[in-house]
Amino acid sequence: MKIQSPNHQITKSIKSPISLVLHSGGLDSTIACKILQAQGIQIIALYFITPFFGYKLGGQEKILSERALFDHGIEFKRIDISDVYLEMIKNPEHGYGKHMNPCIDCRILMVRKAINMLREFNASFVATGEVLGQRPMSQRRDALRIIERDSGAEGQLLRPLSALHLPPTDMENKGLVDRSKLLGLTGRGRKDQIALAGKYGIKDYPAPAGGCVLADPILSLRFRYMFELCPELDVNDCLLMRMGRHFILPDGSWLVIGRDQRENRKIVSMIREGDIKLDLTAGYGPTGLLRKTRSGFNADLAAGILCRYARVRRRLEEVRLSVPGTENIKTIKTFPVSDETINKSRI
Ligand code: SF4
Repeated sequence: MKIQSPNHQITKSIKSPISLVLHSGGLDSTIACKILQAQGIQIIALYFITPFFGYKLGGQEKILSERALFDHGIEFKRIDISDVYLEMIKNPEHGYGKHMNPCIDCRILMVRKAINMLREFNASFVATGEVLGQRPMSQRRDALRIIERDSGAEGQLLRPLSALHLPPTDMENKGLVDRSKLLGLTGRGRKDQIALAGKYGIKDYPAPAGGCVLADPILSLRFRYMFELCPELDVNDCLLMRMGRHFILPDGSWLVIGRDQRENRKIVSMIREGDIKLDLTAGYGPTGLLRKTRSGFNADLAAGILCRYARVRRRLEEVRLSVPGTENIKTIKTFPVSDETINKSRI
């Protein structure tokens, strides 16, 4: 029996071997899928998400669209691994990269998860779009070996783009995968991948390595600071850290202020029990959110910081502090604070 993809480009037997491919939404992992498909292997792409990559925050997603992958005959599964990731990131066994990116442990975690899912999808092995020598931390030869070993994937992990520079896997030895049709790419250059994108008709792919905020030089500083301050940060906290201006007030309260209407709306949607919303009664200011407040927190200071970012700058402002879902509303008349005060609390 045969099944066909919607645009009839690919015909595959339902008895063909299945590979779970770790998919980043980018070009290299899509090429890995195409190389295996060309051998008659069926692909299920696993797209892991955490608050640091993959989550939809309402902005432009830096991944190939699900529709585009579907048209390439790639089944796409979005899998949330936030809980286990948040535990790992506090103390990654193999340390951090240049910023707060725990790349080796991140890859180990994803490969291990995929290996544990093989049976569920009746799949035979796991593949990735890794290229030997492309990334300084996680794609060195020794790192690739560590990832395979520590994820429990020995012999079951294929890197089709660099396979010819790596020892043959069990799948190649057993004849499930034809090694002669795999590639021997290495290094940071993109020329070969761009040529392969043309060959396979892969369009509109994102720039490499753009989607992980842990590797962002500015945002990673905020993440590091906040994880040191309160290690029990959860998904909502981490998503909140990715937007707006952030302040830790002297009493320990965490204040977040939207930078534009999109962020204001997003901040409102993320308010939860215990949070306090701030806005200007005049209606033209940003939205703020106070979290982790204690009794006796400095509401005047929070209100003064909010006023500082009002679109219309006036001397005296009225700021409304409310607890959404309750009648608990308080107003404060205050002045915008000075730049010096802002700089003392901003993170
Ligand atoms: S850049 Fe981010 S998503 Fe990529 S391997 Fe490193 S930690 Fe993981």
